[in-house]
Amino acid sequence: MAGKYLVHTFGCQMNAHDSDRMSEVLEARGWLVAEDAEQADLIVLNTCSVREKAEQKLRSEIGKLAPLKKRHPELVLAVAGCVAQQEGEALLGRVPHLDLVIGPDNLAELPDLVREQQAGSPPRARTVFDLSSPRFLPASPRPGRAPVSAWVTTMKGCDERCSFCIVPYTRGPERYRPHEDILRDIARFVASGAREITLLGQTVDSYRDPALPPPAALDPDESQFPELLRIIARQVPELARLRYTSPHPRHLTPSLVRAHAELPVLARHVHMPVQSGSDRVLRRMIRRYTRAEYVRRVESLREACPDLTLTTDIIVGFPGETREDFEATLDLVREVGFVGLFGFKYSPRPYTPALKLGDDVPEAEKSERLARLFEVSEAITQAHLGRLVGTTQRVLVEGASKDAARAQGRTARNEIVHVLVPPGHDATGALLDVEITQAFKHSLAGEPAPGQLAAMPARAQQPAPARRTRRSLPLAP
Ligand code: SF4
Repeated sequence: MAGKYLVHTFGCQMNAHDSDRMSEVLEARGWLVAEDAEQADLIVLNTCSVREKAEQKLRSEIGKLAPLKKRHPELVLAVAGCVAQQEGEALLGRVPHLDLVIGPDNLAELPDLVREQQAGSPPRARTVFDLSSPRFLPASPRPGRAPVSAWVTTMKGCDERCSFCIVPYTRGPERYRPHEDILRDIARFVASGAREITLLGQTVDSYRDPALPPPAALDPDESQFPELLRIIARQVPELARLRYTSPHPRHLTPSLVRAHAELPVLARHVHMPVQSGSDRVLRRMIRRYTRAEYVRRVESLREACPDLTLTTDIIVGFPGETREDFEATLDLVREVGFVGLFGFKYSPRPYTPALKLGDDVPEAEKSERLARLFEVSEAITQAHLGRLVGTTQRVLVEGASKDAARAQGRTARNEIVHVLVPPGHDATGALLDVEITQAFKHSLAGEPAPGQLAAMPARAQQPAPARRTRRSLPLAP
């Protein structure tokens, strides 16, 4: 029995991607989106356990839904995502008004599991990894309704064992999607209106597919990811831009650098998590690269693409991180010149090796380090954005901006630009040359360069807002 549903996403882009697939499998079975929780027959909380804060938020949200469930006992309340996988059956014991716990590998079963609940089955947990025959739900965008910038998953799980990270536990080992399926998803999105694709994976650059030519060198860090990029560029020539997230620095090999130099479709921005600038901390994090190796690799990328921007993820207050270690991180941020970063205070996560290291950096010290990190990072961002005022940038417009007179888009280097659009025109999906007139804290404003009006058709309807939360959290800390 179908009905109306809501899916709330709490986590990273992988969670947002899973939420989209859940919506699609439900809608394929006749479910419709509910306007609010009161109307809903099914509410799914798609969770994240990478950081303690996201998990706390989930607990508070589940608590808030208890009165609603009491008023509407027929409402099916489900928890999906990493907390579901981590807690499984135990979550049902702790949250008496919960009906369903469903792991990331079981999303295709959601409509049937909900139907069972509607028929009166007892609460159920379904959190089984599909190790022998991994399933990837294909994307099914509605014709003409795909977002300008769409996400396509290439793999799931992670074979790294970073000592702070719960992902290998909640998402399992690496399993890769056949490249033909990836190409099919991309072609479907592009045919439905997408112009930019972001390839998604926990360590997206470790991609492998036996059907592709073997890696370019006998180096254990080499993968077939560069070949995947080349095939996409060759087989989907209509694609305006191709991005990927999140790579592991270990796989930023010479062949991936060459792909960046050779493929104009690849965006001039890479988000390359570094986590720390101290070799001592990197060793304790089991990141499997040194600071010098990281710098060497991103330098070679910059040599190949001089205008490329880099952003990163950093954890402060990792167990044993001294002031000197933290200074080394600040120094690295300045040396590389990251134009943006996600910074986090370390929080111990269940089942992770770092638990054994304790949590010895006091909370106040973590907060102070995080504030200093952001101070250094914001100064770099400001200087970078300021330098772009007075230049002309090519912007892919993704949708409406908060300001009704403007549309929002991004450059290939990932700077957000609010573009002035003449009344009665819709620039969504257009690649415009934009004269940059102003720099804000995290974005730019500009006007279309002369002659760009032809790229903006008369507006048939109100443009959809641009996707503002491209990554509510990094894929992993
Ligand atoms: S931080 Fe990233 S690479 Fe490391 S274990 Fe977690 S998901 Fe894997």
